[in-house]
Amino acid sequence: MSNLETALKQYFGYETFRPGQKEIITAILEDQEDVLAVMPTGGGKSLCYQLPALLKPGLAVVVSPLIALMQDQVESLENNGIPATFLNSSLTAEEARSRRIAILQGKIKLLYLAPEKLANAGAKKFLQSVQHKQGLSLFAIDEAHCISEWGHDFRPEYRQLQALRSQFPQVPMIALTATATERVRNDIVNQLKLKPPKIQITSFNRPNLYYEVQPKQRQHYNQLFKFISRQNGSGIIYCLSRRRVEEIAFRLKKDGIAALPYHAGMSDGNRSDYQNRFLRDDVQVMVATIAFGMGIDKPDIRFVVHYDLPRNLENYYQEAGRAGRDNEPAHCLLLFGRKDIHTIEYLIQQKEDEKSQRLARQQMRKMIDYAEGTDCRRTIQLSYFGEHFSGNCGNCDNCLNPKPIEDWTVEAQKFLSCIARCRERFGMTHIINILRGSKNKKIEQNGHHLLSTYGIGKDQSVDAWKNLARSLLHQGLMTETSDGYRVLRLNQRSWEILRQKRTVYVAVPQKSSQKQHRYQHL
Ligand code: ADP
Ligand code: ZN
Repeated sequence: MSNLETALKQYFGYETFRPGQKEIITAILEDQEDVLAVMPTGGGKSLCYQLPALLKPGLAVVVSPLIALMQDQVESLENNGIPATFLNSSLTAEEARSRRIAILQGKIKLLYLAPEKLANAGAKKFLQSVQHKQGLSLFAIDEAHCISEWGHDFRPEYRQLQALRSQFPQVPMIALTATATERVRNDIVNQLKLKPPKIQITSFNRPNLYYEVQPKQRQHYNQLFKFISRQNGSGIIYCLSRRRVEEIAFRLKKDGIAALPYHAGMSDGNRSDYQNRFLRDDVQVMVATIAFGMGIDKPDIRFVVHYDLPRNLENYYQEAGRAGRDNEPAHCLLLFGRKDIHTIEYLIQQKEDEKSQRLARQQMRKMIDYAEGTDCRRTIQLSYFGEHFSGNCGNCDNCLNPKPIEDWTVEAQKFLSCIARCRERFGMTHIINILRGSKNKKIEQNGHHLLSTYGIGKDQSVDAWKNLARSLLHQGLMTETSDGYRVLRLNQRSWEILRQKRTVYVAVPQKSSQKQHRYQHL
């Protein structure tokens, strides 16, 4: 493990970097470069300046436009034991003064500031004194597109950041944004007067990976064996338990495939020996728990099979992503059996507190949504990272064997208006119960049997409604809170649907489709 990975684990508890993070951090730390980082929302931009801030001497100054966000970020850093603070107009003079003192005493590593703060002479002087005392480690400009009139969210106060580059020529500056056309990117570089920066544009898309989900058959070993015997090159099979790893490796060997097991219960010696044999192509297949793969760099892995359901989409993305690092085609197969849900549920119940159970459960449901989803697999994965990928990738099972596409605009309107009538405070199951006119207690307690949307969706099955709801989420046509409660919310696109300005197309599995007469192949 490199030093950066060790620090990542130590400060944040993560095992691997997300795409783009390491490149950005290295540019700041080793090359002292200015950086423009474009990364999808939720992609992990904050870490790109937080980690360098911790590893460099001095104070990092983070400019962020929203006071509420600032507070959240600072709180979550403090919870990780990282000394951070913010200065903005919400503080009393006394509070602000004591924070400034703490900074000058070198007790703080990250300072969050609102852009307009930087304009006032007092703040400038203050930063000068910090620079003289312990030094400034870097400037991070979050939501950097706000500086550009070509962007979608121009904020005049961002223009005041222009002075920073000339005032503190030695301090590296990193500008971050999720959305930037080329025009906006150039504008950011010019307005902030970045020294010829490293420009890192990160998409989470891995176009050379083919994604496939197969229902797990009763004879699942045979299913796996059949798949592997058609593959050329190396591969990894991920299983949830050590016992399963041992069993599969044993059977594969018996059936003539060069396979080795790998899990945390083996001795260090064995593990590094097996790993080396895999790297040297002595063995074709590693059967492993998720302990395998971290930090190993084998570019020519041609297939990754998930024999059991991964716990969440993030893990799936990372593990499947170990295939095809050489950018040549590779195959990622997930075997999905409903039994796996019970196994994961059991693991979740071993967690101590209720909050982490709730989060884990929500993540698992997202994973199930992926496995059962009828939309392009790539679209679903990328939407998890906040990246909008429209439509047909042509390189996943759902795109190559599309389910019939139907116009479900009217149903979507029913569904979304039901969310609105419940004041955006309930989850998928409850909404579907209302639409189907269910008589359960929760509905009566909330008076939802009196809503005009009560019972207007009896004509569709629960599964059909679920399929619609999943697709609305995957296509970004509504959103869901992510604090562990799956509360459905409307977004701008939902309103466009409700106002008849947008049509909704949904891929429908054959058996839940009740509208064969409305077939439409798009
Ligand atoms: P952004 O600012 O790009 O929208 P954030 O910095 O808020 O995204 O990160 C989104 C989420 O991803 C956070 O919960 C963060 O802790 C998590 N995250 C960031 N980097 C990693 C990583 N390397 N591994 C796992 N999770 C990560
Ligand atoms: Zn696709």
